[in-house]
Amino acid sequence: MKEYPYWWDTIPKVELKTEKVRVLPSKVDVAVVGGGYTGLSAARHLARVGASVVVLEREDVGWGASSRNGGQVLTGLRLDPGTLVERYGEAAARRLFEASLDSMVRLETLIASEAIDCGYTQSGHIHAASKPSHFEDLRKQQTVLTRVFRHRVELVSRNEQRSELGSDAYHGLLVDERSGALNPTRYVHGLAEAATRAGAVVATEAPVERLSAQGPGGNRWRVTTPRGEIEATDVLMATGGYTNGALPALRRRFVPVGSYIIATEPLPDQVAAALLPKRRMAFDSRHFLHYFRITDDRRLLFGGRAEFSRPAPDTTRRAASILRRDMLAAFPELSSVGVDYAWGGNVAFTRDELPHAGRLGDAYYAGGYCGHGIAMATALGELVARRVAGEPVDHPLMDDRFPAIPFYNGRPWFLPIVGAYYRFRDLVD
Ligand SMILES: Cc1cc2nc3c(=O)[nH]c(=O)nc-3n(C[C@H](O)[C@H](O)[C@H](O)COP(=O)(O)OP(=O)(O)OC[C@H]3O[C@@H](n4cnc5c(N)ncnc54)[C@H](O)[C@@H]3O)c2cc1C
Repeated sequence: MKEYPYWWDTIPKVELKTEKVRVLPSKVDVAVVGGGYTGLSAARHLARVGASVVVLEREDVGWGASSRNGGQVLTGLRLDPGTLVERYGEAAARRLFEASLDSMVRLETLIASEAIDCGYTQSGHIHAASKPSHFEDLRKQQTVLTRVFRHRVELVSRNEQRSELGSDAYHGLLVDERSGALNPTRYVHGLAEAATRAGAVVATEAPVERLSAQGPGGNRWRVTTPRGEIEATDVLMATGGYTNGALPALRRRFVPVGSYIIATEPLPDQVAAALLPKRRMAFDSRHFLHYFRITDDRRLLFGGRAEFSRPAPDTTRRAASILRRDMLAAFPELSSVGVDYAWGGNVAFTRDELPHAGRLGDAYYAGGYCGHGIAMATALGELVARRVAGEPVDHPLMDDRFPAIPFYNGRPWFLPIVGAYYRFRDLVD
């Protein structure tokens, strides 16, 4: 079993142009910290409007969540439609839901205009009820989606679900035709190439160690890396669930939570076609949810929050065996199928489970997508870049008053308690 993302084996092993940047610029308009979807989308926009911009990525292009995720481009946000309405009222909830649809249009437009070869398709998604009572919840979601958000989805009863999903472990489905699928690693590399074409410098193996505000009013920055210092007029922090002590303010606002995925060996045609006949993206209705899909070479990718701790070799192996057990509970016919890959990644959570972007002190930031980041990171990266460039941006997720989490300094001591709580809720809900 290979312990790295399956997706990494789907890109050519040739060195990318972006990886060859060995000498960092000494002075730029904007320094972007983090080379995932957020940072690269921002850099592409800034370079297109004429700014000099460098992306500083500690590891490799998209090394964080952007090359490790499930590739599910989903409508909506992490919070379900009912919770959005309950918490924010109908008008504000509608704006938030529409922001998710808008982010998908931005993603699709970018992929098409930059001709990024990442296998994007409008596959649709399946939300599968893990318990009979959860199908009633899906029915309520359908009502809110139709009435408040004017967004059409279909319910499929357990008796008819085999046309969508080859499993009897679920109790009916909600199907949303709008969602999409892509290969996340190919997408992030395509985005890096697009940013580079626009004129941005994308530097890998360039960890930022410190950001210090300079000059009267702190209107310039010194960005310290082991490869030299850079003077920047603005900085954008785009480090998501991989934010470290170099960015202490952001670290007090994002909680990194591990999510894990296994990929089976390629399945025979008929087996893959029986599991997900329409090749939709799928996830279930538990708090500790599972998500799954078929890849272009007919592997089943099966993911979940099997371990709450962050990925390390022992947690990845433990998570892989939990995920395999759970996969077989849903698809027992795969008992003799091998697992070729297992990996994990950090998802950045926020206290209110919504993404945030804007200004934090004198720096800009965007992140906290809570596992729904492919389209939203692309969109908020661009939108926060518009603000850096001086454009006013009116968006429900722009937040210059994003509060730190009380009693939290970046070490998520409370995760075992939260994990135990949700495991309990999965038993009783
Ligand atoms: C296992 C998993 C499955 C997921 N599945 C889905 C899915 O199916 N659909 C979906 O929409 N979303 C999914 N997500 C979430 C999605 O991947 C993220 O929301 C998105 O990739 C966030 O992009 P980002 O650019 O903000 O952060 P990242 O891609 O994490 O990039 C941050 C980068 O910052 C770099 N960095 C950190 N500190 C420094 C520093 N000091 N100096 C320089 N660089 C630094 C890191 O190396 C990292 O590469 C998933 C996430 C995971 C982990």
